[in-house]
Amino acid sequence: MSIDSSKVSVVYVMPGDGWIETRGLAHRLCTAAVRRHGAAMRMGLEVRAVKCRAGATPTVELSDGSTLGADMVINAAGPDAGMLASRSEGVLPIERSLGVSFVSGSAPSQLRHVVHAPGVSLRPDSETRVMMRLESLDSQLVEGQAWTSSDVRCEQVIAGASQVMPNLRHVGIESVRIGIRPIPIDGVSVVGFDPSAAGLYHVVTHSGATLAPILARLVCADLFGSRPPELESFRPDRFVASAPVRGGSSVQSK
Ligand SMILES: Cc1cc2nc3c(=O)[nH]c(=O)nc-3n(C[C@H](O)[C@H](O)[C@H](O)COP(=O)(O)OP(=O)(O)OC[C@H]3O[C@@H](n4cnc5c(N)ncnc54)[C@H](O)[C@@H]3O)c2cc1C
Repeated sequence: MSIDSSKVSVVYVMPGDGWIETRGLAHRLCTAAVRRHGAAMRMGLEVRAVKCRAGATPTVELSDGSTLGADMVINAAGPDAGMLASRSEGVLPIERSLGVSFVSGSAPSQLRHVVHAPGVSLRPDSETRVMMRLESLDSQLVEGQAWTSSDVRCEQVIAGASQVMPNLRHVGIESVRIGIRPIPIDGVSVVGFDPSAAGLYHVVTHSGATLAPILARLVCADLFGSRPPELESFRPDRFVASAPVRGGSSVQSK
């Protein structure tokens, strides 16, 4: 699969433009946390409740009935972060915004860049697949309803994408991925202690992929007590009029 130069006469290459393979990155980070730093992962369990009260150790209750105690609890539950906050008397107004991507079948592909073509965008997905997005389709999504690769809307996507890469028509769409973006109600990232639940720290943003490297550094600095000024505009206190700030204590450096 390649871009057809007889149909696409002008291409602007943005050298800094790129994408992140978020699943692979998350997997590698979790593996490193376990192998290098002794983290423990509890898979397949849901956090049912978070208890964060002033003067008490924060605790997390899991769906297998176990309870974990912690210096503090970090809420990075993405679109479910608002629900998780409400389970601990925290306040976090998060909207859920659905988005759909289409992944081609497997074929040798020469695509190495993000392509923003009229109406459709494309990028590599592994060495042999292409991911396609037709932004106008997002508004047709309904939470809880899956789309399959035989959905009639896939034809619309292939029609647009094959204007740029004609062989996509032969490869077709193999899978449809529907994701949910967490959008804080004012559109701005939320980073910091919840003013209503002592020891509960939120990290929620729509730009979770782009901002992850800088957020990771700033959040670590924040949790160890240095209060980076870059985070001041993003504090959760803004959702609670004149609320007293009741952050948890900083992590003790070991
Ligand atoms: C269509 C689309 C377009 C996007 N575009 C961009 C973009 O242009 N730029 C960008 O930077 N980012 C983009 N994103 C990323 C997105 O907006 C978020 O920023 C990102 O997914 C947040 O990552 P996260 O790790 O905070 O949350 P998530 O990836 O949502 O992970 C949250 C995790 O918490 C778990 N969880 C939730 N509730 C519980 C519970 N009660 N118990 C246990 N576990 C729980 C979930 O299972 C999940 O594994 C896009 C996402 C989509 C879907």
